[in-house]
Formats: sequence, C-alpha cells, structure tokens
Amino acid sequence: ATPTALMVGTGRGAQLGILIKGPEVLESTRRVDTVVLDKTGTVTTGSTALHAVHAAEGVEERELLRLAGAVEHASEHPVARAIAAGAEERVGALPAVEEFAGLPGRGVRGRVEGREVTVGRLMADGAAPELPPALERAREAAEGAGRTAVVVSWDGAPRGVLAVADTVRATSAEAVAELRRLGLRPVLLTGDNRRAAVSVARAVGIDESDVVAEVLPEDKVEAVRRLRAEGRTVAMVGDGVNDAAALAAADLGLAMGTGTDAAIEASDLTLVRGDLRVAADAIRLSRRTLATIK
Ligand code: ADP
Ligand code: MG
Repeated sequence: ATPTALMVGTGRGAQLGILIKGPEVLESTRRVDTVVLDKTGTVTTGSTALHAVHAAEGVEERELLRLAGAVEHASEHPVARAIAAGAEERVGALPAVEEFAGLPGRGVRGRVEGREVTVGRLMADGAAPELPPALERAREAAEGAGRTAVVVSWDGAPRGVLAVADTVRATSAEAVAELRRLGLRPVLLTGDNRRAAVSVARAVGIDESDVVAEVLPEDKVEAVRRLRAEGRTVAMVGDGVNDAAALAAADLGLAMGTGTDAAIEASDLTLVRGDLRVAADAIRLSRRTLATIK
C-alpha cells in the first residue's frame, strides 16, 4: 500500500464521518474478523432516564434522590446523568458533594451532608450489596425488563434501588446485520447485569452465547485479549472511560464520537456521529482501499 493511496482512503473516511488517527490504521481494519461492542452508550444511546425509585423501609424517597443525585451530578456516566437529572426534576436543587470518586464500571461515591454515599452496582468497599427482600425484588424486576438497576448506599447500608431505562440506538440492529454480512462475528461486552444485556442483544441480533456481561473495566481488557489469543483479529467499539483499556488492547479500537475523551484518545478510529453502521463502512472502506492498491 502506497502512502498516497492510504491517504485517499483517509480522506474518504472523513467524508463518511470517520476520523482516522493515521493512514496505517486501514491495514489492521482490513483483517478484522470479530467486533466487540460495548452496550451502554454504544449499542444503546446511553441517554438514559430515571425510571423508578425504590426506597428502603424507613428511608424517604426525597432523601434518597437528594443524596444519590448529588453524587451522580459529579459524574459524566450515562447512568449518572439520568439519575442527577431525574433527582433534580423531582426534588429541586441538589446539595454539594465532597471527596467525589468515580469507580469505572462500578459506580460513584462521595460525601454529602456528612454522609458517605455510594451509587452503583457495588458498595464503597467493593462488595456486592446485600439487599433487603423488597429491594432485591425491585432490582430483579427492573433488570428482567432490560433496565439498569443501581443501589444507593450510605453509612454502610443499602438505602434504595434506582432503575434507569436506556434505548437501543435506531441504527444498531442494521449495523449488526451489516457487520455479519461482512463476515464478522459480533460480541456484546458490558459491565451491566446479564438480564439487561441479553435483552439488548436480542433487540439487535447478537447471539445470547456472545453476550459477556457484568465485567469490570479490567476484565473488558481480558475479554479482548482472550479473543485475540484464540487467533481472532478484534475490533472493539466503545464510548466510556471504562472501555479505554479494552479499546487500546484491541487490534482496532473504534470510539463513538458521542463518547468520552478517554475512549477517543485510546482508539484508532472515531465514529463522529456515533452511528454504529459507520463501523461497517470503515471496514468495507479499508478492504476496498487496500484491494485497489495491491
Ligand atoms: P457498559 O459496559 O455497559 O458501558 P459500565 O461498565 O460503564 O457499562 O458500567 C457498568 C455498570 O456499573 C452499570 O450498569 C452500573 O450498574 C454501574 N455504574 C457505572 N457507573 C455508574 C455511575 N456513575 N452511577 C451508577 N452506576 C454506575
Ligand atoms: Mg459504554
């Protein structure tokens, strides 16, 4: 491949809405046979909405929303945006948060009005929260309906469950079909719970056996490495801080242009409009460009 021909491919990419880090990227794009897709913000819009609020016995719903909303207000994760917006809408101005910490793939924590508040799928100490039966039922029902359920805890005990609803992007099912037509195997990789993941996989045509759920960011990297160790050439598409390491570990990293800077920096290609179908265009383009010049 001559540099000039590759530059032509790069220019065509820009027209399609693909930002290519360097012309040499087209070479690895051509060989890809497996596409790992992150769920939240990649296959789904990630513009989630707060759907239901379940307070533990003895906890006021208003208090639950104030404290959870305050901590989430400091995070840019789609789940966080939904909770902060939903809380603000229901209870008005949110209190300030101190000592905020984002825990990628797990949740957030911070101090609000003297309380140590955690929101996410794990507690501040990293343990899975043990829920009272009513909250456990609420969580299972939400997940069964394809929603993301997160636990709000403070001072060491679970205080409520918030269910967040996400929407599958209108273009995702078509994108998966196009990737298959190119001979690629789609895999869904997510930190979210398995029930929600399988419901999204079904909606876009990914096999249930190709759903990898409840993975922490470091395990996302492992999942990519395992596929590569099996001899596959792996493209990974993601949007989050939690995807950055996996994007860098893949043969080809593609970031959603709608995603975080961390994901974009770790990637070889950026899908400017956040349209997954353009991932298929990129692979088609690189195959064609390199075929023309060989
Ligand atoms: P995905 O892999 O689908 O993009 P993430 O790895 O970012 O999802 O998050 C995995 C899970 O961790 C979420 O489904 C949620 O339960 C929890 N989580 C992550 N960030 C937050 C947050 N800011 N607030 C609450 N929960 C969070
Ligand atoms: Mg994501």
